[in-house]
Amino acid sequence: MPRDLAPLLQALMNGGNMDQILDGLAADDPLVGRMVAMMRDRRQAAAARSEQTSTAEDSLSDARTQALIMASELDTLRDRNRRLAHALGACECFGEVPRCPVCGGAGRTGAYQIDAALFRTIVAPALAQVRGVGAQPPGNEEKQ
Ligand SMILES: [Zn+2]
Repeated sequence: MPRDLAPLLQALMNGGNMDQILDGLAADDPLVGRMVAMMRDRRQAAAARSEQTSTAEDSLSDARTQALIMASELDTLRDRNRRLAHALGACECFGEVPRCPVCGGAGRTGAYQIDAALFRTIVAPALAQVRGVGAQPPGNEEKQ
């Protein structure tokens, strides 16, 4: 397979197209042709792997972002649930978890001392609204 590489180098230095040069070499020598074909197969496989890796990394990044968003929402909801439970004198499970380590399922509203400040902030406005319409649940006052 020894061949003069000077024409190849010259073509490359003159800005020749690498694929065209390789095609020319491959046409001249079947062994070089097989090597060029193998090289192109490997290049395509590497490009495909790179694309798959990129897609997988994008998916992982998206999943991490979603997990962070969900964790943030969960923190917000847990805090809201805690404040509401304390405003109503309930365990944070509201007595709905029989194996709750805090209340053993007995922590429904009124089971514990109400947090007066949270009650005034969270519950009192709703209570005032219900009292203002004759103790009817909101939305039902016009149906009767
Ligand atoms: Zn509980």
